[in-house]
Amino acid sequence: MKRITIYDTTLRDGMQGVGVNYSLRDKLLITEKLDDIGIDYIEGGFPLASDKEAAFFSEAQKLRLKHARICAFGSTRKPGKKTDQDPHMQALLAAETPSVTLVGKAWIDHVSQVLETTPEENLAMIFDSIQYLVSRGKEVIFDLEHFFDGYKQNKAYTLEVLQAASQAGSSCLVLCDTNGGCLFNEVTEILHELPQDLAAPFGVHFHDDTGMAVANSLAGVLAGATHVQGTVNGWGERCGNMNLCTFIPDLVLKTTYKTGVNNHLEKLTTLSRFVAEIANIIPDKRQPYVGEAAFSHKAGQHADVIAKAPSLMEHIDASQVGNRRKIILSELAGKSTIIKKLSRYGRFDKDSQVVSSLITTLKERETAGYEYEAAEASFDILVRKSLDLYTPLLELNNYHLESYKTWEIPSKTIGRIFLQSHGKQIMGAGVGIGPVETLDAALRDALTPFHSFIKNISLTDYKVRVLEPERAAAAKVRVFITSTDHTRSWDTVGVNQNIIEASWEAIIDSFEYYYNNFVLIGGDQSINQDK
Ligand SMILES: [Zn+2]
Repeated sequence: MKRITIYDTTLRDGMQGVGVNYSLRDKLLITEKLDDIGIDYIEGGFPLASDKEAAFFSEAQKLRLKHARICAFGSTRKPGKKTDQDPHMQALLAAETPSVTLVGKAWIDHVSQVLETTPEENLAMIFDSIQYLVSRGKEVIFDLEHFFDGYKQNKAYTLEVLQAASQAGSSCLVLCDTNGGCLFNEVTEILHELPQDLAAPFGVHFHDDTGMAVANSLAGVLAGATHVQGTVNGWGERCGNMNLCTFIPDLVLKTTYKTGVNNHLEKLTTLSRFVAEIANIIPDKRQPYVGEAAFSHKAGQHADVIAKAPSLMEHIDASQVGNRRKIILSELAGKSTIIKKLSRYGRFDKDSQVVSSLITTLKERETAGYEYEAAEASFDILVRKSLDLYTPLLELNNYHLESYKTWEIPSKTIGRIFLQSHGKQIMGAGVGIGPVETLDAALRDALTPFHSFIKNISLTDYKVRVLEPERAAAAKVRVFITSTDHTRSWDTVGVNQNIIEASWEAIIDSFEYYYNNFVLIGGDQSINQDK
């Protein structure tokens, strides 16, 4: 089995992505995770760029990495400069990493128009820089920038660059598709044409501008590349880099190639979501293998097959990549989906009264605009109601909200709420910018003295969707709320023509879900009856 080296550039090329930024601490945390899953090389950054970038390398030395080698990234020496006086070379040495990744120009147009130097000087810059770093004990990985475009325009020159890097002692020649414009057939063709007498193996580095980065990397491996570069979740400049979260399982589960990740593949979904969390980017649900939807089944018939023989419906077992199967609720759901959902409350069969009444309710509600696939906590309330396992948290008497704005004062909302909870009449008041915030504040004001658990619940996401855009301002809206108690999170839904009422429904479902599932079961301890 041929071994493929996996090289991660999440912390360098990945940081070029729109909206992606990592602090020094973030970078160290990600490094540990990458090491833990068995990535071979972790490119830590460009030490010459800033003090923060340079500081990463000294801090990373303190990490106890089990497997990965850290690489510092930089360019070849400047035209006309001496290698031992070049700031790029000095910054790379100062990073004190065992490996460095150097980037040099492989496209002759870039040499003349960007570097503004001669083709010969560019070759000398590459040769000198690699040789200099190798002579100081470094392993040098050489990235040939715009290799594929260079090759297509002036094959002879691009091959000279390749030979220069090989002769200077580079340990790996990485062919980069820097603008991401290549197709997989070109990759196969070009790699098969490369000379056989090079002293170092090939690597590949693709960007996703044609949606081909993963396919191109696989084509690269099939054509002999043994080193592959990419980023977690595929984030990077423009459309992104090659997505390691897709490529790695493709390689491990669908081919016979071996990687350092083979024995840790079940950590992949966690890695993907961890990096998303740190980057503060909502993970793409539809991402292959690691996305939340990757093993979700909606249609009733599909869910039926899944219950009988998952392998007939899924290309791999979700647990192989650390993901999980999700049966989604919808009006398409068959009885078997409902029975599965009910299983935590007992055994039910297809002819059970509860199952058919829940299907009817689900259909009615979905017609009215509710969607439970992303609001399992609201569905749980429906189930509890149908099983008589539901204890209401409160009974609303009324709420009253007033928004005002004047020429000088920006908009503000004040509100009051009157309700009953456990036989007590309670009043709450709140102030906020908008009505939903105010209603939430007034409700918390009313409930918290009697139910201390409310303090632990916070809202992490609030989404509104207009359901009947043709009805303009009178359209129905659907509100989704995600809540958390800082150890678990749950989702609820509300639908109404009035956005405040839709939000109210979703907030109440959230509190009642928590109350019924975690407070009452825990002995109702958080109800302070003395107040
Ligand atoms: Zn790149």
